[in-house]
Amino acid sequence: MFHAQILTLFPEFFDSPLSCSIPKRAIQSGIVTVDTIQIRDFATDKHHKVDDSPYGGGPGMLMKPEPVVASIRAARDKHPDTHVVMLTPSGARFTQAKALEFTEKSGITLLCGRYEGFDERICDYVDEELSLGDYVLSGGEPAALCVLDAVIRLLPEVLGSPESAVLDSFTEEGILDWPHYTRPELFEGKAVPEVLLSGNHAEIEKWRRAQAIKRSKKRA
Ligand code: SAM
Repeated sequence: MFHAQILTLFPEFFDSPLSCSIPKRAIQSGIVTVDTIQIRDFATDKHHKVDDSPYGGGPGMLMKPEPVVASIRAARDKHPDTHVVMLTPSGARFTQAKALEFTEKSGITLLCGRYEGFDERICDYVDEELSLGDYVLSGGEPAALCVLDAVIRLLPEVLGSPESAVLDSFTEEGILDWPHYTRPELFEGKAVPEVLLSGNHAEIEKWRRAQAIKRSKKRA
């Protein structure tokens, strides 16, 4: 069973997305366990402070090292072989290849920041730093959810048809999915490409491949 642990100040963020569709089914069928760990529980002062102002001045607050590192240690105590990922805009870009790589592990721990981010020294306690893209979210939770969702759907037995994941965009590096059509055959004057109605599977495959390459080049 694959384990996911999420270190966060907002565990409730994950309630709704994990209780529907594919993640819900994966959890219910015991393919994955998802545990949230409240970072604030590891603050030892009486106000349970998890943030403080930056040395050198500047706006905003930073996540303090003591509670965050204690929460990472708690995650490692529970799953000693867990792979700890810090979500941060300065990390390497998260990709489909990385999602696939994570499915080979026994589990992951996703560390979510808030405020202006983390005290830099926290980076020494994680295995990897990942970014969702070149934009700034208000917290690591939406990023962690995207990583988790992308990993869960690649775990064996999660998708009804395992072929779906193999044929998805990015499975082959740089190649997007081809265009798809369903009923009706004619929608507001727009027809489904003739070849898809031909029943000629070799031609259909050729057309799909050509379309995927054309679309990938256009969006590169
Ligand atoms: N001051 C930071 C910067 O400019 O890089 C941004 C901090 S952001 C407001 C707060 C938290 O959101 C970060 O610590 C991180 O956990 C998360 N976050 C924001 N954007 C992200 C992204 N593109 N990818 C992953 N995590 C992100």
